[in-house]
Amino acid sequence: MILTYFILNTSKKRVLFYLLDGARPDVLTQLIAEGRLPHIKQLVDEGTFKIATTCFPSTTGPAYLPFLTGHFPGTLNIPGIRWFDKKEFKRTRWNKMAMRSYCGPEAGWFNTDMPANKPTLFELTGSAYNLYNMITRNVPDEHDLGKKGKNLLYTRAHFFKRHHPVDLQGHERIMELLKSNKDFDFLFAVFPSVDWDSHYHDIRDAQTFEAYEIADNSIGEVRAYLEQKGWWKDILFMLTSDHGLTPTHTHFDLGDWLTDQGLKSISYPVIWRSNPKSAVMISGNSFGSIHLLNHKGDQVLAQKEILKYLGVERLKALLETEAVDFIAYRGDNPFEYYVENRRGRALITCNNNQYGYWPVSADPFDFGIIADGYMETLEATIQSNYPDALVQIVQLFRSNRAGDIIVSARNGYDLRDFWEYPEHKGSHGSLSKEHMLVPLIYNQKGWAGRASRTADIFPTILKWMNKTAIACEGVALN
Ligand SMILES: [Zn+2]
Repeated sequence: MILTYFILNTSKKRVLFYLLDGARPDVLTQLIAEGRLPHIKQLVDEGTFKIATTCFPSTTGPAYLPFLTGHFPGTLNIPGIRWFDKKEFKRTRWNKMAMRSYCGPEAGWFNTDMPANKPTLFELTGSAYNLYNMITRNVPDEHDLGKKGKNLLYTRAHFFKRHHPVDLQGHERIMELLKSNKDFDFLFAVFPSVDWDSHYHDIRDAQTFEAYEIADNSIGEVRAYLEQKGWWKDILFMLTSDHGLTPTHTHFDLGDWLTDQGLKSISYPVIWRSNPKSAVMISGNSFGSIHLLNHKGDQVLAQKEILKYLGVERLKALLETEAVDFIAYRGDNPFEYYVENRRGRALITCNNNQYGYWPVSADPFDFGIIADGYMETLEATIQSNYPDALVQIVQLFRSNRAGDIIVSARNGYDLRDFWEYPEHKGSHGSLSKEHMLVPLIYNQKGWAGRASRTADIFPTILKWMNKTAIACEGVALN
């Protein structure tokens, strides 16, 4: 009797999660101020709008992992939308695990590439629904709202550069679910057009603005329906993004550059070249990983071996390339990493959750010296040009698939030319603040006011739903 009373009076804690892929906090703020996003404005007025950091590389797919698992891409060994595994490649070249591009038919392998022992919110929250996100492990087809007709719809959007029908159909599928007699605990809905319009037009193109408005309309209609149903008051509604973007004026092909430098390179889609001396994997397209193959053994290289096999002259030439903002690589000692730009380099250390940044020949990130904890280094860097740089570089190099050297492009440049159709006019993937900072809006007040990472969303949702906490790299906000 008491138990029945308890169940009837414990309102169900549902979560609606809207991912505006590629939404920038400043563009969102501008459109709110112009009165173009009335329903998002209402959420902000009643709840919270803060700016959070995403992960590095700041790229679609890997940057969904923090929301869904509470972990970063390096920790989960999926360090890019494309990656390369030197050990597997050197073992036998035509090997499914040697390299990956999730931009195409291999996208389906994302689910099995993820570590089996790291559960997603879909596996933890009861009746969970997905719209358009590619991480669908253990999501039954009938809970994958966008799946039916997705390939054709996406292909049309891509080739005709008409993206909005995808988001409009996504909204219709959400409404169909809500109006059916099915209940839900968790809905993860991706609205992809802000990202696509920003890539193929501009971050402030009229079509991009319209994509924000489509999401706003959807929120308005969904909210009105749930209010009428009496469910809204117990819903946690969250809206965020996986990265920002910046306009791109110049393409620089990192793979071609290495080939010109005498290190014949393979990169997607040209992965069949014989006797390659290097491999290059690009994400976003402002992030690149370099994997040197011109050496004996199958190990990832640290500082001394990089100087030997890339060579001092090539390293210098790479740093002087206009498109390159900075590079990073492992030091010769464990838990030591270098970041270097044309001015010089600094050392990053990590020891039992204590992070350090120590200028050596220069201060490429202009941080001065930092020696602090996991959350404190986020506070110390979130206002800088490289938000959360220390934790992000350390997590990325946990994965050997991140390569020997990673390259972060200067804003305005990307690292992949020629193969891209349609041409990219916007990019992301780098550690620059314009790519790393994302809006985080939720219909609650009074939660932690501290600096936040998108990885904090995972434990926050579990706590909201009264689920058992799971060890992860995020910290609950509530
Ligand atoms: Zn994205």
